[in-house]
Amino acid sequence: MTARVDEDIPSFTKLRATCRNAVCPKSGESITGTYFPNAEPPIYRGWCGECDQPITDLVPV
Ligand SMILES: [Zn+2]
Repeated sequence: MTARVDEDIPSFTKLRATCRNAVCPKSGESITGTYFPNAEPPIYRGWCGECDQPITDLVPV
């Protein structure tokens, strides 16, 4: 049994995502979720489950 801790394990961040799509039923509603950083920008990518559009309004909580 080997327990390895790699340095490149991505650390997650809690972000509050707010959909800004005007036609989205959830527009303006904030959803807090856990996000893992990507290797390339944009580092954090949110996706609205309601209107299926990317969420650009991501704020750390
Ligand atoms: Zn949406």
